Amino acid sequence: MSSGPGSSTSGAGARIAERARRVVPGGVNSGQRSVPGLTDLVITGTGGARFRTADGREFIDFHAAFGPPLLGHNDPDVARAVAEAGTSLGHMGVGVTEGEVLLAEQLVELIPSVEKILLTSTGSEATFHALRVARAATGRRLVVKFQGCYHGWHDSVSLNVISTPERVGGRDPISTGILPEVLEATLVLPFNDSEAVRAAFAAHGQDIAAVILEPVPHNVGALLPHQEFLTTLREETTRAGSVLVFDEVITGFRHHTGGWQTISGVTPDLTTFGKAMANGAPVGALGGRADLMDLFSSRPGGPTFFAGTYNGHPSVVAAALATLRKLREEPVHEHVFRLGERVRTELTALYQRLDVPAVVAGYGSVFVTYFMPGYAPGQLPGSYTDLLANDAALFVGYRRRLLEHGLFELPLNLKRSHISYAHTDDDVDRLLTATETAVRSAL
Ligand code: PLP
Repeated sequence: MSSGPGSSTSGAGARIAERARRVVPGGVNSGQRSVPGLTDLVITGTGGARFRTADGREFIDFHAAFGPPLLGHNDPDVARAVAEAGTSLGHMGVGVTEGEVLLAEQLVELIPSVEKILLTSTGSEATFHALRVARAATGRRLVVKFQGCYHGWHDSVSLNVISTPERVGGRDPISTGILPEVLEATLVLPFNDSEAVRAAFAAHGQDIAAVILEPVPHNVGALLPHQEFLTTLREETTRAGSVLVFDEVITGFRHHTGGWQTISGVTPDLTTFGKAMANGAPVGALGGRADLMDLFSSRPGGPTFFAGTYNGHPSVVAAALATLRKLREEPVHEHVFRLGERVRTELTALYQRLDVPAVVAGYGSVFVTYFMPGYAPGQLPGSYTDLLANDAALFVGYRRRLLEHGLFELPLNLKRSHISYAHTDDDVDRLLTATETAVRSAL
C-alpha cells in the first residue's frame, strides 16, 4: 500500500507487489483487483471484520471481497466445519456425497424457484449454464440483460456494466476477444424500464431465450427494483415462453436466505447463486424449475452439457452447510440489517449537516454513497443513467481518504460496501467519525 494514500513506509508490500508484477500479469489474479493508488496492497491475513497488510497495517473491511464473508472473514464455525469435513483435498470427482444431498435439500426448501439445483465453483459458471440451458430449452438465440448488471466474465454477458455516458444505449463490451455475433445476440435494456421491456418483447419476443438480471443491481452500488418492473418481467417472459433468470449471486443469502425472490414475491424460472452462500469458499449454484434443470441430465438428442472437476467439493459443501446453519440459527440478518440501517440513516444526516449533496443507498447489509445533487430526502436513483450524475472523483477521493483512518471501502467508482456479522457498532462509529474528515478533505 506504500504507493497510495494510507501508506506506511516499511516497503514490504511494495517488494512483494513488484515480484508479483514480474510473474502475474498486472500483478493480480482478477481484473477488479487492480485499483489505482493501491498497487502495492499485499494482504497477509483476514479475520472477522478486519484485514492486515504486508506493511503492518490493519483495516476495518467494508469491501469484504465483493461480498462473500457475510459472517465475517474466517468465521470460526465455518472454519471448524471445513476442518471437520476431514477431506479438505479428498475430492473423488465421481458419485455424490451425502453433504451435497443435504445442501441441495436445504436450498430446495429455502428458495421459492428452486426445485432442483446444481453446484458450480463460481457465479460465472452458474450464469453461463443458466443461459446455455435457456437456449437449449427454447431453441432461441437472444438474451436480454440490463445496463449496469454484471453476471461474470463469459461472452454473452460481458457487456454494458459500468459504461461511459456515450456508450450507454449501444453495445459496450468489457473485454476484447468476443465474437461480434455473440455480442449481437445480447440485447441491453435500461433497468427499471418496463416500457423498454415491453417494446423488446413486442419486437423480438419469439427469439428471446432468456432475460437475466441482478434483481438489485449491486454491481453499480444499489439500484432498488420497482416492484412493477419485476412483475412486468415475469409477465412478459411467461407470455413469450422465455426463461426468467434472477442472478442472486450477491442478493442470495445476504438479503434473505430465500433470496430477493422471497422479498419481492416474484419467482423466476432459474436462479444463480455464489458469494455469501459459503462465506468465502469458492462456490456457485444454479437452481430452478425441474423441467429446465432436468435438461442437464437427459434430453432427446443429448443432455445440455454440465460439468466441473471441483463442483460439490467436500470442503466447499461443508462451508455452505455451516453458513446456512448459522444464517438460520443466529440473528445474522437482524444484526447486519440494523447496522446497515444505522450507516444509511446516520451518513445521510451527516451529509445533510455538511451540506454535501449525497444519496446513501443500499439494502440490508449493503450500502453505497453516491455524490449527486438534486435528490430529495428518501429519493433514490433507479437506473444506470441516473448514476451518471454521480461525482466519480469525489466518490473515489472520499474512499481514498478513509484509508488514512484505517477504513477500507474499495476506492473504485460505484462499488458497494458490505457489513458482516462480525462488524460492530464501534466499527460503524469509526466510519461515521472518519467520514466527516474524509469527505471534507476530498471536496
Ligand atoms: N453475478 C453477479 C451478480 C456477480 O456480482 C458476480 C461477481 O461479482 C458474478 C455473477 C460472477 O461470479 P464469480 O466472480 O464467482 O464468477
